[in-house]
Amino acid sequence: MPSWWYGLSDAGFGVTRITEPFVDPYFSANLYFLRGRDRDLLVDAGMGLVPLRPVLPLTEGKPVLALATHIHVDHVGALHEFADRAGPAVDAHLFETMPDEATFAAEYRHRPSPVTRLPSPGWSIGNYRLAPAPLTMPLAEGDRLDLGDPSFTVLELPGHSPCIALFDEANGILFAGDAIYDDQLLDDMPCSDKEAYRNTTRRLIDEVDPKIVFGGHGEPFDGARMRAIARNYLENGSGL
Ligand SMILES: [Zn+2]
Repeated sequence: MPSWWYGLSDAGFGVTRITEPFVDPYFSANLYFLRGRDRDLLVDAGMGLVPLRPVLPLTEGKPVLALATHIHVDHVGALHEFADRAGPAVDAHLFETMPDEATFAAEYRHRPSPVTRLPSPGWSIGNYRLAPAPLTMPLAEGDRLDLGDPSFTVLELPGHSPCIALFDEANGILFAGDAIYDDQLLDDMPCSDKEAYRNTTRRLIDEVDPKIVFGGHGEPFDGARMRAIARNYLENGSGL
């Protein structure tokens, strides 16, 4: 079912990219949908301002797993719409209540222009709250996430926040969440860890060799660009 709220586009590699064009750009993240042989996968769940599940090209009777790369508000809003929910084990307790201190939902409520169109008639930012979405599948470094075909290795890539990424070595696809994307990397939040972020960027340069990176924000990019962003971060504390 199409929805005017979300932007859906074919991102290549069998991936559908979903955006939220009417959300404050600072909180407008990428969501991704991918069909697997045995089950489908949603990577990140947006702000939850408009129901997400009806927009996805789901197959009746086929399971879908919704994964949050980390607990920030722009990645977990619609997670509660899905019965099967994966995310970083290290923050699993926080998904049970979605506290503002961890999600930054309060910061979103105080943005001067949280949306450029109303998600529903009479909508008010003051009523915006995240629904709890306890993880049914907490994931940690080295875990396998198997959709039949493809399958992914879980990487813990802390720094921005406790973030997990999914790497499909066979096809060279990396879903990176906010660990790396083609813009200024954010490392100055209460949940951030700059030393961990330096280790994460070194690890991306040395150990991960993707063909395509689907980040939590901005356009997809290739492995060479990923290494350039990571090197920029190591050299000047920015991805730019
Ligand atoms: Zn984030």
